Amino acid sequence: MSAHLTTVAGVPVDTRHWIGGERVASAATFTDTSPIDGAPLAEISRGTPAEAAAAVAAARAAFPGWAATPPAERARLLRAVADGVDRRLEDLSLVETTDNGALLRSHRRGVMPRVAHNFRFFADRLEELEHEDFTTRDHTNHVTWDPAGPCVLITPWNAPLMLATWKVAPALAAGNTVVLKPAEWSPLTASLLADIAAEAGLPPGVLNVLQGYGSEVGDALTSHPDVRRISFTGSVPTARHIAASAAPHLTPLSLELGGKSPLLVFADADLDLAADLAVEQYDNAGQVCLAATRILVEESVAEEFTRRFVDRASRLRQGDPRDEATDIGPNIHPRQLDKIDGFVRRALADGARAVIGGHRGEGQYYAPTLLTDVRQDSEIVQEEVFGPVLTLQTFTGEDEAVRLANDTRFGLAATLVTGDPSRAARVSARLVAGTVWVNCFFVRDLRAPFGGSRDSGVGREGGNWSFDFYCDVKNTVTAPKGWNDHG
Ligand code: NAP
Ligand code: MG
Repeated sequence: MSAHLTTVAGVPVDTRHWIGGERVASAATFTDTSPIDGAPLAEISRGTPAEAAAAVAAARAAFPGWAATPPAERARLLRAVADGVDRRLEDLSLVETTDNGALLRSHRRGVMPRVAHNFRFFADRLEELEHEDFTTRDHTNHVTWDPAGPCVLITPWNAPLMLATWKVAPALAAGNTVVLKPAEWSPLTASLLADIAAEAGLPPGVLNVLQGYGSEVGDALTSHPDVRRISFTGSVPTARHIAASAAPHLTPLSLELGGKSPLLVFADADLDLAADLAVEQYDNAGQVCLAATRILVEESVAEEFTRRFVDRASRLRQGDPRDEATDIGPNIHPRQLDKIDGFVRRALADGARAVIGGHRGEGQYYAPTLLTDVRQDSEIVQEEVFGPVLTLQTFTGEDEAVRLANDTRFGLAATLVTGDPSRAARVSARLVAGTVWVNCFFVRDLRAPFGGSRDSGVGREGGNWSFDFYCDVKNTVTAPKGWNDHG
């Protein structure tokens, strides 16, 4: 076996970059570990700025050919990638779980099928993309979505392949070429995606995968003059850095960032539903951007809601994410665990009370935590923890509910539970959020716009919003025959 192939959960994974249809090794490597037991998994190529430039050059070289490929053929190739994902669903699930610690059962039944769906959805959408022509003083207006050029896509570790393909699929469908840089804590499935894309027949250079630390290769990608779009999912500080780096070339950005989303429970709510939705916020060990981590409950039902919540939370099984019975797996990295614990300790020192949890578990696990007696302006209410840590506050009446819900610098999502449809309409209209869920959570259709308000992001992707971002939208105005004839 090549020195660059490593076996993870029985699956061979290439540890090199994928640039211009070839595997390229860096001189240096970094060690990727598993959150399950901290064991080293692979020595991954540690990209350099020169390799980043080579990846952009490969994307640029492949762009004219891919942009000129008829939409039906691009769609066919994207569907072939989807078929490849389906065929390797078990491999992808096992490798992702080993690499980032998220539940195997979720990868098998939810996440990886969704990865395939990302490709099929945008293939279908591409073929349907049209705008009815209209006339202006007898001139026709014809709108087209032209490919924009090489795109840099930078993604986080909490749902690695899912979030990567949510960008890769529309970018490729649009006729662009791509450099994907996955997160260093979970780099493996991006490499498998390169294998799948090559096998599906995607031409060399159309999809490139660059491994390496964002701090080392990021600027070389985001400040590159040949890059026409940057789509980033990750934290607010990194987004600020990327925006500054992209500014000299005014490279258009799509930013999907953090959140501190509220879950509003009104006294007229189905409290069992509310408790179910609240406990769901521990999914992926709380490492979900959309998680509704601030539970806001109407005073009169707070005690009963808390009782039902604690009852459910106490039945959650924390353990090995490969075990189908596990509900909560490990957190991604010892550094993330320290960060989570720091937030909780400072909150407790500040007067918060742990209803459940409030401490580390064994190994790389954190006990599911609910903190109450928290002040609205405190760090634990205002900052994203990105771990299994929720806060609980009470309110009286809609005005206070809305005030507390909107009072952070984020605006990614909001969930409200109420039995009164007119209240649902009133309150959702007043919430600042890219997505509002009423009596449900995490229902994400690819046709819907997705993104955040305020510090939670810039722009929207999903459906035709993705094509609006990844394309140079053009209007061609044509005069009728003879319109300009003189004499
Ligand atoms: P992060 O630290 O910002 O990293 C995200 C990506 O950016 C990684 O690939 C990272 O590379 C890269 N990066 C780091 N420094 C860079 C630089 N100077 N230039 C270019 N790229 C750079 O975020 P994270 O901790 O991985 O992810 C968690 C955050 O993502 C949370 O805030 C969460 O809410 C957010 N998130 C948002 C959404 C959404 O859709 N709104 C979805 C999921 C997650 P390396 O890690 O390899 O160095
Ligand atoms: Mg890992």
